[in-house]
Formats: sequence, structure tokens, C-alpha cells
Amino acid sequence: MLGRLTRRFANLAFGGSCFLCRGAAEGVLCAACDADLPRLTAPACPRCALPAQEGALCGRCLARPPAYDATVAALAYAFPADVLVRALKFHGELALAPLLGRMLAARLPRGVRVDFLLPMPLSAARLRERGFNQSLEIARQVAAATGCPLAPLLAERSRDTPPQLGLPLAERAHNVRGAFRCTQDLARAEIAVLDDVMTTGATLEELAATLKRAGAARVVNWVVARTPAPADA
Ligand SMILES: [Zn+2]
Ligand SMILES: [Zn+2]
Repeated sequence: MLGRLTRRFANLAFGGSCFLCRGAAEGVLCAACDADLPRLTAPACPRCALPAQEGALCGRCLARPPAYDATVAALAYAFPADVLVRALKFHGELALAPLLGRMLAARLPRGVRVDFLLPMPLSAARLRERGFNQSLEIARQVAAATGCPLAPLLAERSRDTPPQLGLPLAERAHNVRGAFRCTQDLARAEIAVLDDVMTTGATLEELAATLKRAGAARVVNWVVARTPAPADA
């Protein structure tokens, strides 16, 4: 497994061609594909990162404040960002992790500090099947860029849950209830949770609630890609 991944990394890192268009590139992407990435620059709700007028709290967060306190998202989960996220997660293209991590780090406020940077935990079964946790690979880059301490063991998946992707929106919160366990006392800690994609936010909500029950004072989400507002959420 490791050999295959290392070879892929070497091909991507030194192949000299763009991952998306195969044109000449110095890094993972050529300048044109990099410029095409759907960066989120419009005013957004500081709590959930969905578009909101003048960057004010959105109606959903006002009506039902989530357990997390803030969300920063670098990209819209749209072409070609979705291609990169899926290639890392499902095809083991680990050389994409530094690229996505740098993009997320660039979106964070300058000099940002948290006590712990926690990559979204995978279940032991999923980790065995995939061989790596994509959020941890991205978080390594963000930790290096920001100096925030990486703490992948702060919480764990206490049970496996069916993938959220196949579920109706209304069932997603129920699906992840009780999915996490916190492994230490987090008294007054400020924690950033790093995830590759935020969709309804149900998984991040459950993890933030778990961290707060363990004493965390503030939980913020740092996500690479954000899906647009679901119509019925
Ligand atoms: Zn390209
Ligand atoms: Zn909001």
C-alpha cells in the first residue's frame, strides 16, 4: 500500500504535468487550473460559511445556533475542486493533500491560533479500508502553515456510521448521533476541526457537541470545500 502511494506521490510531485488538465505545471496544478478553482470569496455566515448578506449570521444559525462557533471554508464543492477532493479521498492521490491544505491555510485569518487542530476522525474500519485519513493528511499542512498543534487522537469514532452521502438530509443528524468519543478533558480549550467537505454540517455538529461536552470552550470548523445551501435544511 505504502509503496503504491509513494509512487503516486512521486509521479504527481515530479511529473511536471497538471493533475487536472495534464498540461505543463511546476506544481500539482497549472496556473490556469489553479485560477479556475472555485474559491469562496463572497460574504458568508461566520458560523456555517454559507452565503449571507454582508457576512452576517444567517437565518438558520440565528434560529438554531449550531454547537460549533465558526466555519472557514476555502472552496465551493464544485468542479474542479470536487475532483481534487475525491481523488485524494477515494483514489489515494496523497500529493493533493499539501495543495488542499495550503489553500485552506491561506483562507484562515493571519496569525490564527487554536489549542488543538483535530482532523475529522475516521472509524477504525474505514481507516483500514482506505489506508489513510484524508483529513489528517490535509491537517498536516495546515498545522505546518499555522503552527497550530496537530491532535489527531483528541477524539475518535466510537461507532461506524453509514456514509452520509447516501442518506436523505433529514436522516443525517440521526445517523451520526453518538458517533464520537472524546479521549481527554478539554477544559477551556479552543479547537479547530478540519474536514475535507462540509455538506449539511451534521457530522461537524455532532463532533463539536461532543467536544463541548468534554469541556471545550470554542470549536471552529476549518473545511476545504463547502457545498451550497441544501434546499430543505
Ligand atoms: Zn491544468
Ligand atoms: Zn449560518
